[in-house]
Amino acid sequence: MATVPERVNTYITEAGGYSLCDACIQAHLALPKAQQVQQITSTLATTRDFVREPGECGLCHKSAKVIRHA
Ligand SMILES: [Zn+2]
Repeated sequence: MATVPERVNTYITEAGGYSLCDACIQAHLALPKAQQVQQITSTLATTRDFVREPGECGLCHKSAKVIRHA
């Protein structure tokens, strides 16, 4: 079974460059804690594979910090 960070990584990667906000990631993966999602996306953003910046979420179209696969 994949760990939560692995599931978040896979979901963002499979979004194929789509920007996603933490709330949509949390809802899609049915994760109980927003803080946990934020920690994971912040960590992913330190790698070359992901970009996290203010923008518009491709799913809910809210302005928020969004992450996408680079
Ligand atoms: Zn969203």
